[in-house]
Amino acid sequence: MTCPLCGQDVLRAGVTTFVADASGTVVVVRNVPADVCAECGEAVINEDVAQDLEDLVNDARRSGTESLVRHYQPVAS
Ligand SMILES: [Zn+2]
Repeated sequence: MTCPLCGQDVLRAGVTTFVADASGTVVVVRNVPADVCAECGEAVINEDVAQDLEDLVNDARRSGTESLVRHYQPVAS
């Protein structure tokens, strides 16, 4: 897999910290599984994980949460 940012083929399975800051709600999720570029540090999050994160952000917004920090937990399927 090639890095979308620098184009180097050096993505490695790892974890990243996801941060979303919008509409008065800040969401930080640690230990998010991602492919991390060894060259520039760009983290590529797969679609399923991105969807989980989006749901989390939407839930936080809906409930009026000002800030939320948590570790990533895959949604049981
Ligand atoms: Zn890169």
